[in-house]
Amino acid sequence: MEADEDLRRLAETSALVLLYHGAWTSLPSSLARDLHNVPPALIRSQLERIGRYFRWVDIDTLGAMPDPRGHAAVTFDDGYRSVFEEALPVFEALGIPFTVYLNGAFFEGAVFWRDKVRLVQSMGWVEDFESFMEGIDPPASRRFYRYTKDPGIASERVDAELDRYLAHRRVAPGLPRHCVDDIADLPRHELVSYGNHGHHHYVMSSLDRARQAEEVGRTDDLLATLDGRRVSRWFSVPFGDVGDFDRATTDVIAAAGYRGVLLSRSRVHVAGIRIHGVDAIERFMPAPRPDRFWPAATPHA
Ligand SMILES: [Zn+2]
Repeated sequence: MEADEDLRRLAETSALVLLYHGAWTSLPSSLARDLHNVPPALIRSQLERIGRYFRWVDIDTLGAMPDPRGHAAVTFDDGYRSVFEEALPVFEALGIPFTVYLNGAFFEGAVFWRDKVRLVQSMGWVEDFESFMEGIDPPASRRFYRYTKDPGIASERVDAELDRYLAHRRVAPGLPRHCVDDIADLPRHELVSYGNHGHHHYVMSSLDRARQAEEVGRTDDLLATLDGRRVSRWFSVPFGDVGDFDRATTDVIAAAGYRGVLLSRSRVHVAGIRIHGVDAIERFMPAPRPDRFWPAATPHA
């Protein structure tokens, strides 16, 4: 197949770090707008095809390699329940390790604020919320889903206004909880490790240095309680683009003993990427479609 020839060539020049989020066969309706979801059967066929040309390792092993070309690793961000309930058997069948980057606040009762955004969208409440919200200045002509994660808009403020709005609509208690929120539900499994994705998944660069240190430190404290489970020393930057973090973020993670940052720019990885003074690993999100799911063969396309 011609497309797999691309993969073979890619393995000669690059490493491949996959980033998945949801792994539902049947997506919950409140997530239906804008969640990156790849059903487990499709994840399986993607892993099988990539595995013909790349050697699977876990992300920390890949990140420590001076020359990671021809190696691949799998990461999941946000800790959606479907990772364990639906995708884990696929990884067991293939013997492939993966790392799940968690947001500690979800284990303290918080609901993922991006899922609140998706809920407002799926209910058709966007305009109503926009006339209700205070202290948020939306840029003209940008879609709600996009501008609410803009580094120029304080994520904390958006989250607080979403809570105030959902309380006003009387849906605040009883919001759907799609992410794992109990440590007991994080399997102790030889193929699974866990990492830090920020405490609330706020845009780090929208926070001051002290709040960034809290966001890293509080989820670091949670990871320290995961007895018997392996922990990654890479920090998965919420939203994962260069503008979503800054020098304060990398100072904070370096001080906390992290190796570097994981990005989400849909690129293949090559050794030696440094951003804001630390090592960085590029990841890409396989598309939820069976034909063409890998990025262009150029590392920095
Ligand atoms: Zn995330």
